[in-house]
Amino acid sequence: MSRNIFVLSLGALGLYYIKYITRMKKIQMVDLQGQYARIKDEVNTSFDEILGSAAFINGPKVHQFQKNLEDYLDVKHVIPCANGTDALQIAMMGLGLEQGDEVITADFTFAATVEVIALLKLTPVLVDVDPVTFNIDVDAVKKAITPKTKAIVPVHLFGLAANMDEIMDLAKEHNLYVIEDNAQGIGANYTHKDGSKTKTGVIGHVASTSFFPSKNLGCYGDGGAIFTNDDDLAHTIRGIVNHGMYKRYHHDVVGVNSRLDSLQAAVLDAKLPHLDSYNNARRNATRKYNEAFKNHPKITVPSGRTNCDGICDTCDCHVFHQYTLNLKDVDRDALVAHLNEKGIPCGVYYPIPLHKQKAYVDERYNEDDFKVTNQLVQSVISLPMHTELDDEQIDFITKTVLDFIDAN
Ligand SMILES: *Cc1c(COP(=O)(O)O)cnc(C)c1O
Repeated sequence: MSRNIFVLSLGALGLYYIKYITRMKKIQMVDLQGQYARIKDEVNTSFDEILGSAAFINGPKVHQFQKNLEDYLDVKHVIPCANGTDALQIAMMGLGLEQGDEVITADFTFAATVEVIALLKLTPVLVDVDPVTFNIDVDAVKKAITPKTKAIVPVHLFGLAANMDEIMDLAKEHNLYVIEDNAQGIGANYTHKDGSKTKTGVIGHVASTSFFPSKNLGCYGDGGAIFTNDDDLAHTIRGIVNHGMYKRYHHDVVGVNSRLDSLQAAVLDAKLPHLDSYNNARRNATRKYNEAFKNHPKITVPSGRTNCDGICDTCDCHVFHQYTLNLKDVDRDALVAHLNEKGIPCGVYYPIPLHKQKAYVDERYNEDDFKVTNQLVQSVISLPMHTELDDEQIDFITKTVLDFIDAN
């Protein structure tokens, strides 16, 4: 009898120990160490090669990655550069936009989008977004077009393809350029009205992307690229990224210095074959989140309304750069504080509409034209989203969110 009790208590102790050592992994907003661990050998071998050859700039790795990305996207030209902000700026320079030209973009995006427009002395024209997709509202774009409008910059926000067919139709009608800001959307497929699919970033005249570490395809520093199918534009842009040189020491236009280095290209080339599986891992996490939050009266889960069936956790038009909830009648800031207290990081992207940022206020704006953005900045919250989230972490996050919302 006492022997049985001894064995039982030993067993209980053992179980407790197993539970103790398999404690839940610390939850991170983005888990780059976990992802690195899975490609470590390949990245380290490439790094050794590059360090050995000292081909730090414009080495063979940069060209190899460029070619591989062109194949992946099915685009004629990828021009690597130093970061996603440069990529946008260079795309606009390449198109020859001039001071006073109006460029329409979304009020609800990262500031880089509007920053480069202003920096080039073009005139930013911010417009509202759609309340369901959070992407640029095509009707608002239509209303904002004037004889000075030269370009539209749709952002595939949080990884969901913007309404590209409508935007391209509008651009064609008014003879405008379309520059896709694809910093958050790499790998997403846009489904056209006829059912065919194209990767985001190769639909407009030119596109930019960012390889910032936390992006869906991120390097271990800064990086970016410009995509286009236009041969002449690609040629122009290749000169602009290299001090406006088309022939060594002949500077035909004012350019910039913007390069992707070989070490970063090596990381990206190691990750590119995994990009689809990375994006699938994000969709799997989304599906689990969505299941937990389903039909909650105070929570709207992210969804899409492009030409697919609208269930964006099962369809590839969304790559979930962020998993963003839209809350109703919830004290969002109290929820953020509660989650942080429980060791759950979260983010508010974005807390202030661009048209209210000091740098971009413009007396021509009318508050009534920004109803959706003005609301979203108060009600959205982004939960941890990356390739390494496991079920236990997602259960803990969803339970913590729901317990708080249901008790308050
Ligand atoms: C990250 C980001 C950028 C800028 O990219 P950087 O590489 O950080 O310069 C531009 N636009 C959007 C929408 C982004 O998310």
